[in-house]
Amino acid sequence: MIARVATEVSVGQLFDYRVPDELAPRLAVGQRVRVPFGGRTLSAYVVELAAETPAAPAVPDLFNQSDLPSLPAARRLRTILAIEDETPFLSPVLLELARWMADYTCTTFELALRCMLPAAVRSRTVKPKERLYVTPCEGDFDLTPRQAELLANLRRVGGGWLYGLTREFACTAQTLKTLAEKGAAVIEARQMRRDPLANRTILPTRPLPLMPEQAAALKLIIAAVDAGGDARAPDLPPKPVLLFGVTGSGKTEVYLQAIAHVLQRGLGAIVLVPEIALTPQTVQRFASRFGARIAVLHSALSDGERYDEWHRIRNGEAAVVVGPRSAVFAPVQNLGLIVVDEEHEPSYKQDEAPRYNARDVAVMRGWMERCAVVLGSATPAMESWLNVEKGKYVAAHLTQRVAGRPMPCVHIVDMRVETAKTGHVQIFSDVLLEALKLRLERGEQSILFLNRRGYATSLICPQCGAVAECPSCSVAYTYHQADTCLRCHICGGWRPPPDVCPECGDPAFKFSGFGTQRVESALKRCLPQARLLRMDADVTTRKNSHDELLATFKSGRADILIGTQMIAKGLDFPNVTLVGVLVADTSLHMPDFRAAERTYQLLAQVSGRAGRAELPGEVYVQTFSPDHPAVQAAASDEGFAPFAAVELAERKSGGYPPYTRLVCVTFKGPDETKVRFVAESVERELRRALADASVKLSEACPAPLAKAKDHYRYQLLLRAPTVYAITRPLRALLANLRPTADVTLAIDVDALSLM
Ligand code: ADP
Ligand code: ZN
Repeated sequence: MIARVATEVSVGQLFDYRVPDELAPRLAVGQRVRVPFGGRTLSAYVVELAAETPAAPAVPDLFNQSDLPSLPAARRLRTILAIEDETPFLSPVLLELARWMADYTCTTFELALRCMLPAAVRSRTVKPKERLYVTPCEGDFDLTPRQAELLANLRRVGGGWLYGLTREFACTAQTLKTLAEKGAAVIEARQMRRDPLANRTILPTRPLPLMPEQAAALKLIIAAVDAGGDARAPDLPPKPVLLFGVTGSGKTEVYLQAIAHVLQRGLGAIVLVPEIALTPQTVQRFASRFGARIAVLHSALSDGERYDEWHRIRNGEAAVVVGPRSAVFAPVQNLGLIVVDEEHEPSYKQDEAPRYNARDVAVMRGWMERCAVVLGSATPAMESWLNVEKGKYVAAHLTQRVAGRPMPCVHIVDMRVETAKTGHVQIFSDVLLEALKLRLERGEQSILFLNRRGYATSLICPQCGAVAECPSCSVAYTYHQADTCLRCHICGGWRPPPDVCPECGDPAFKFSGFGTQRVESALKRCLPQARLLRMDADVTTRKNSHDELLATFKSGRADILIGTQMIAKGLDFPNVTLVGVLVADTSLHMPDFRAAERTYQLLAQVSGRAGRAELPGEVYVQTFSPDHPAVQAAASDEGFAPFAAVELAERKSGGYPPYTRLVCVTFKGPDETKVRFVAESVERELRRALADASVKLSEACPAPLAKAKDHYRYQLLLRAPTVYAITRPLRALLANLRPTADVTLAIDVDALSLM
């Protein structure tokens, strides 16, 4: 028998090995094995098993990453050394998913495979944690009074971890060991779970009686769950369900009850949430309903915790997984449902290869597993909305907030008028300040939202207009008051602010714009009695500080929370009745066809933070573009649907996604001439190769972020009715391209960021 494997080191090629007879009966696709490779041994994953080595020796490498010789002839194949783990690491569906992902995102199969397995799981150094466990024995033993007392205590608690018992019973480990030597107890090594929720008090919750719209949505999802599953073998998998529900309409409760149904049927579920929304509050809601049956996978876990959680999922101990985008690959057995909450979130897209969108992978995995997929959002992506219109997805609407709570009342504040009043740009309009004061008097809370961070966005010289820029990246430095330094948000570089303007020498280098820190100090002057809390990337870099801040605010120990996009999503504060958006325009003027969509999403999400409980909410949106459709839509009751209609019409006439598929090719390198040369020659070759006139090709030009980390960036945008119309010819061309060491190239299929 021959096994085809993908090795742990990425060489862009699969290899064939002979399977020794004694291993053959136990070997299975998806297992991890040990193989000889060059002069060493490596871990590898079995991808395929065959009686003989097939004629085609290996999967071709996409980008000529390796110059390996072709495979040895069958008789010279080397032999698999051992099976590392009997239980396969990858199910057949996950292997198929990796193949699809590699093909779709233009990466290698190995890279796709590796991205499915957490590093802690692939690593050979992370191991199960073993600790000594003491169990008392029955019977009479010859013990000292002290030992007898210890044994009695041990019997009372039924046993425990050795190190815990020494503390609990104030004894030494040696005393317990003596007990074991006398036969009165057994001490053995046991696996100890590293539980990410170990220090949390989790109070169980029960399903709530649903509102009629929630009940209808649940019925639709349950029908999809029941239609799926291979045992029930339908020809077609169930259609994904778009759960379109305004903020506070109880989507999460619907997910929870759908999962309860899934568990009842003996199936498993995956819930994807954006990393930023993966707060203790969110995890708590799932843990409270499903207890030990959930596993949490997120970036703040230690390697050990991640290792244990992943293995609990694979072993079927945990049937519900909650995690960010990479959780879409969780090895859940008998998958019955995948939920993608906030499906429109750009953070579902990975910004390095493989550049996959977890929402799209979820839909594909659902199709492959024949399971239900639910995409939830208050502001669906245009892509998903069009899929509903086309009948590819079915939609369930939640138009009402639970318990008849009204949607917040949204006021648009024209900042041009406010500016004219005083002659200079205001941070707070008069109406917003009045509204804040009113909340203070009533003992209610407010949130102020700013789509920026730092004290001032940039340092601008009032004399010559020069801006302090990062020398390695083509962006302005941001001034940070906390440590009085200039920081680059691209490369993380920093420097102290110069005393004089580097261009003209003027000493009056001025702060312009405003960030959360300046909002905080201005607010202190206007409302000295208010207790303020600021949350942005600067104060939340410490682990847990994010959670602590939110807990402080929720407990009412602050009146006003000032923050950046971090506070926009998923948070549920019953006492917040006012939300102020300080500058709604920042995201409107991005050089991106999705600018309006992003702005609308942001405004709708932020507004959703107001009036979540019994108290009605009010929102003030300060803007210099009060007439923009995205701003108008955020302030109207119908909100999304009319905005989507206008937006889709514009996309259609402009030939933009979702009516076309977009692929962005970025060229990067330290030498601008070389980068431009490669970009332009690829463009020229592509024009020649693209016989298909349906593919629209931009000119190779500097990216909006023209330089980052001392590397120049050029971009090529391709649009066509299908992705493969672009990627097939592109890959064929690149396979023949002589790779140059100093220009790297990245293909981003369905690009979300055009920077
Ligand atoms: P969404 O996810 O749509 O923003 P949530 O699921 O967070 O909404 O629900 C908002 C609030 O309403 C939560 O506090 C939740 O517990 C509560 N809630 C949800 N469904 C119901 C219901 N059927 N009856 C009463 N309260 C509910
Ligand atoms: Zn920089």
